[in-house]
Amino acid sequence: MGIGNVLSNDKRGMIELGAEKKVGWDEVTHGMVLHSFEDDATNISSQKAEDRNYAQFNSYVATVASWRVVKPVYNRDICIDCQNCWVYCPDTSIISRDKQMLGIDYDHCKGCGVCVEVCPTNPKSLLMFAELHNLEDAIASWPEKKKKEEN
Ligand code: SF4
Ligand code: SF4
Repeated sequence: MGIGNVLSNDKRGMIELGAEKKVGWDEVTHGMVLHSFEDDATNISSQKAEDRNYAQFNSYVATVASWRVVKPVYNRDICIDCQNCWVYCPDTSIISRDKQMLGIDYDHCKGCGVCVEVCPTNPKSLLMFAELHNLEDAIASWPEKKKKEEN
């Protein structure tokens, strides 16, 4: 599977959790069962996340992109694939395959900035920008490598 296929997976973030469409917990009655997947989920752990048949209640198919005011931008040219961002992201929004960082799941990223904090490169391979900032402009404005201060 190519990087483009992973990032543009059509099962991810199909439902916008806006105020008017939100599925409230007050709609869940006693004894109600919310299945995470459609059909038989016996071998679900052996399937890649993007290949699973998600139920409408699974957060994987809901997007929270509209909650974000700042977003992380990823610069492939500097990344060393250390996987720190993947490990520390609290929303599992770093997309990585076979230990290669592929990008950010903007449907689930909430813009907390943790991935930027833990990125060890100089300059960082992830930086926060305003949500509406154009990605190409963000990459073009990337800072230069910082030199060590001499004492
Ligand atoms: S900003 Fe936060 S939620 Fe978004 S990818 Fe980084 S660590 Fe994850
Ligand atoms: S923390 Fe930085 S260098 Fe490490 S994989 Fe993530 S973006 Fe790349």
